[in-house]
Amino acid sequence: MTIKHLSEIDIVKASNSKINEVDFENLAFGNVFTDHMLICDYKDGKWQKPIIKAYEPFLIDPSAKVFHYGQAIFEGMKAYKDENNDVWLFRPDENLVRFNKSAVRMAMPEVPEDIFIGGLKTIVDIDREWVKKGLGNTLYIRPFMIAIGSGVIAQPSTQYRFMIILSPARSYYSGEVKVIIAEHFSRAANGGIGAAKAAGNYSAQFYPQKLAQEQGFQQIIWTDDATHTKLEEAGTMNVFFRINDTIYTAPTSERILDGVTRKSLIDLAKREGIKVEVRSVLVDELVAAAKDGTLKEIFGAGTAAVVNPIVGFSYKDVYYELPKLENSIALDLKDKLTKIQYKLAEDTFGWTSKI
Ligand SMILES: *Cc1c(COP(=O)(O)O)cnc(C)c1O
Repeated sequence: MTIKHLSEIDIVKASNSKINEVDFENLAFGNVFTDHMLICDYKDGKWQKPIIKAYEPFLIDPSAKVFHYGQAIFEGMKAYKDENNDVWLFRPDENLVRFNKSAVRMAMPEVPEDIFIGGLKTIVDIDREWVKKGLGNTLYIRPFMIAIGSGVIAQPSTQYRFMIILSPARSYYSGEVKVIIAEHFSRAANGGIGAAKAAGNYSAQFYPQKLAQEQGFQQIIWTDDATHTKLEEAGTMNVFFRINDTIYTAPTSERILDGVTRKSLIDLAKREGIKVEVRSVLVDELVAAAKDGTLKEIFGAGTAAVVNPIVGFSYKDVYYELPKLENSIALDLKDKLTKIQYKLAEDTFGWTSKI
């Protein structure tokens, strides 16, 4: 997509840059933020003029609806710097569409394209020194919206704040990931908010995830809430299974978030002649494939890690270890997708847009 400049905006630059205090070689994911933030408030039924200013805390009323009823949504995306010092976004239009779907589901106002995409372009451009060159260096972009209207009456707010904050990040490596298949807890249910990037989906996951971690598993593979027989997502990522030489991933639904990484991997796999099937995989099928040796790989797909290989899974107290492969489809797809993002390979899909 072509990215327009945002003309109607107030910019107050930070008086000092923090960039020299940052150790870019040793960044923990999501802890360091750049010099600026974008704020755009919604009140009296319309979006106000956005402002970019120094990153800093702000005041909101203790009765603001976000604190009591969790009206909050977000997005996660990344910017990449190529060898010519140009900065690129990956499929930002997809994040805009999804953000506004989340907004509708949470009874929040939609954010117009010029504020979301134009605002992104403007703030990333201002903080472009924070995007470092070289494979593995990225700027993680976190657009979000919260209900800031005051009053504890349980109804949607009339005032909102849309913001964009930016966090330099190294490519995310989570170590060896073992997962446990959910037999009781659910991430999402039909008719619920599982397809929205709503803050509450995450807080609802923390407790089951903590229990899993106490048992030695880093993530949970979520199953459908009604029967717990279909495999749906891995933690906060979409999930793929490779049985023989075909990769499988569930169709998106009210329970499965429509991940940009997921759909990009599907398109890439098709282009590369890798067999890919979009259909639900049953827990029983997975266990059978693990037992007869046809299960080759399981991997999560999401913006933060791109592809997150899983080394084994537990189901009904039995642990199934995956084989160690020479030629992993997961790592091959990750490499190909990453090269498109960093402009090291031709972007035949038109996924990248220059800031
Ligand atoms: C954000 C998210 C994903 C991954 O989406 P990407 O667009 O690929 O980053 C998958 N599942 C859930 C539940 C998510 O919140």
